Amino acid sequence: MRLLGRVRSVIGRLSLTRQVALLSLLPMIALGLILGRVLQTQLVDRTLSDATRSARIIARVGVQPELNPRNLATGLSKTEIATLDRIVTQPAVGRELARIKVWNAHDTVVYSESHALIGRRLQPSDDLEAALSGHPLGAQLVDPRKHSETASEVGLGELIEVYVPLRFKAGGAPAGVFEIYLSYRPVAAAVAGDKRTIALLLAIGLALLWAVLYRIVGRASRRLRRQAAENYELARHDGLTGLPNRTLFNEEVARAVGRAQRRGEAVAVLLIDLERFSAINNTLGDASGDEVLREVARRLQGGADGALVARVGGDEYALLCPNVGTTDAALALAGRVLAGLETPLLLEGVALDVEASVGLAVLGEHADDPAVLVQRADLALARARSHGSPVEVYSPGLERSDAPRLKLLGQVRSALAAGEFVLHYQPKVDLQDRRITGVEALVRWQHPELGLLAPDRFIELIEQTSLIGPLALDVIDQALRQIAAWRRRGIVLEVAVNLSARNLADPDLPDRIARLLLTHDVAAEQLVVEITESAAMADPDRGVRLLEALRRMGVGVAIDDFGTGNASFEYISELPATELKIDRSFVTEIATRARDRAIVRSTIDLARNLGLTVVAEGIESEETLECLAAEGCQMGQGFLFARPLPAEELTPLLAAAFGLGGAELRSGSGAVFGPGEARSVAGRAAAPAR
Ligand code: C2E
Ligand code: MG
Ligand code: MG
Repeated sequence: MRLLGRVRSVIGRLSLTRQVALLSLLPMIALGLILGRVLQTQLVDRTLSDATRSARIIARVGVQPELNPRNLATGLSKTEIATLDRIVTQPAVGRELARIKVWNAHDTVVYSESHALIGRRLQPSDDLEAALSGHPLGAQLVDPRKHSETASEVGLGELIEVYVPLRFKAGGAPAGVFEIYLSYRPVAAAVAGDKRTIALLLAIGLALLWAVLYRIVGRASRRLRRQAAENYELARHDGLTGLPNRTLFNEEVARAVGRAQRRGEAVAVLLIDLERFSAINNTLGDASGDEVLREVARRLQGGADGALVARVGGDEYALLCPNVGTTDAALALAGRVLAGLETPLLLEGVALDVEASVGLAVLGEHADDPAVLVQRADLALARARSHGSPVEVYSPGLERSDAPRLKLLGQVRSALAAGEFVLHYQPKVDLQDRRITGVEALVRWQHPELGLLAPDRFIELIEQTSLIGPLALDVIDQALRQIAAWRRRGIVLEVAVNLSARNLADPDLPDRIARLLLTHDVAAEQLVVEITESAAMADPDRGVRLLEALRRMGVGVAIDDFGTGNASFEYISELPATELKIDRSFVTEIATRARDRAIVRSTIDLARNLGLTVVAEGIESEETLECLAAEGCQMGQGFLFARPLPAEELTPLLAAAFGLGGAELRSGSGAVFGPGEARSVAGRAAAPAR
């Protein structure tokens, strides 16, 4: 059992071809032995039946004519014996014949070439009796031995014994029997020769068969190995570009990190995402999309500086850079990669701009583990995407996507469908006459388990996904519906909605907004979109183009949270804006902080020079309001007037401010918020959802 186990394990370690060779050798040898044996038996049988025929010929043709019933009963005369002697010693007969005995029916030898046997009467053997009864047994091989029936043949060597009944009348009982012994030696020599030839032929045949089998198996096994290698390659490469895919990339990162850590080398991972690739696919077709992907692959390989380039997703590529060990070097490489993509791509004569975002992480600086390194580059890429920035480096601040946040993100789609995103509205007030001219729509998530969630709990999260598009449209849709509803009650207001950087990357947004305006029958002039400086700067050209399209429609554009980003005045002057909203961090303490007051003053100057309306955010007190009014700020927003409120709660306040007892419209475009009213509104406002 143990031996069998050991043999099995040894065989198991051999190559497939060798296993087949070895295992087929055993049945081959067995087959050879069996075939050899069968052929040998047939050979001997054939020899014996040949001997029987020879014996019969000798008996019937040579000897029997000299016999008759009479001399058989009484014995042969000397002359007859001499005649027979002549016949049986003829060279043609004598060569084979070793002994002949002619028996009569009384068990007496009447003739033998060994004259000493003539006239002897012996105890008949079974074979003799069978032959005398007319049923001789077949020829057989005998080795004569003393004290046996063949005692008289001792010394003649191995013999073939044949009994031939002697009949003088056809069909009658035998009158005697020929007992003929043929010498086996020449036959044995011929048989041995035949056996050798057969064995040789068999061995050669089987060896050839085995060799052919070995070759076939060897070739099949090589083909299998080649196919396995091809499958391995296919499973690790992208069919379209021929680049390594995510699986191979991750394996290579693991290898490179291991090597780098052993030898103290450097590794950085850059993840690259094409922007608006689906738009290319949708507008120009899949074939063009494929061409773009191939061209990008070529360009990345051209500028990769020895890095491994992989395609790790639909429009996502990755670079494994073995010689880049610092963030600065990785940033430089990212710059070169992006520069390589800058030249427009020519597709059927059309020049196409391909834009990309890069997220990067460096081994040692950002991660020590290959999987974490890739994951962190991915986080940086998500950041670049959501902020529309060309390159982002990993930083621990990006790690906030913990489980509860991810869970929340997973619920966004169904929340949109279930209408869980609701709007609160905060009035925008003209600071000179305290008229409400509009409201800002601020989204909240009425979460079934977590209650009312403020935007800072989910906006940044959703901004990292394409769901920010549907969310913006949902907000605009609700806001316009509300504006139309208020207008029906005689409350005519502007509404401002907030857009994220990613919304500006959607070239269809102006069309979608136009359709919503049409649906709710609201004039474009009644809608304002608010964009933060950084959102507008994420992709300046594209952002500006989109805002210009909105402006052409008549939609207002406000620069939100002004002062918190680092956009230059020069850049701001190029934005097609209509409004500048000073961030509340400069406003709330303006009465006591000279620095804030100076900043607000110069901002107001700037806005005036650019022809923009200035809105101060975060007005919480009368003093602040007075300061702002003194500086010439036109508009304001803040808890002093009202916190953001659901439409049902804001409507009575608006109705009162518009001086509407019922549903009637008072002439004029706005309603007046007296100081008392303002306080009363603010006082009655709900606690902010935070
Ligand atoms: P934001 O556009 O600057 O909105 C003004 C924020 O300031 C609101 O916070 C509002 O509640 C708060 N605020 C107003 N007056 C005062 C005040 O007197 N004092 C103080 N301390 N705060 C005041 P909220 O509603 O939590 O919104 C936060 C931010 O979330 C918004 O800032 C905006 O950037 C974003 N957001 C809100 N709704 C949307 C939306 O529909 N889409 C997008 N993309 N972002 C939104
Ligand atoms: Mg805003
Ligand atoms: Mg703001």
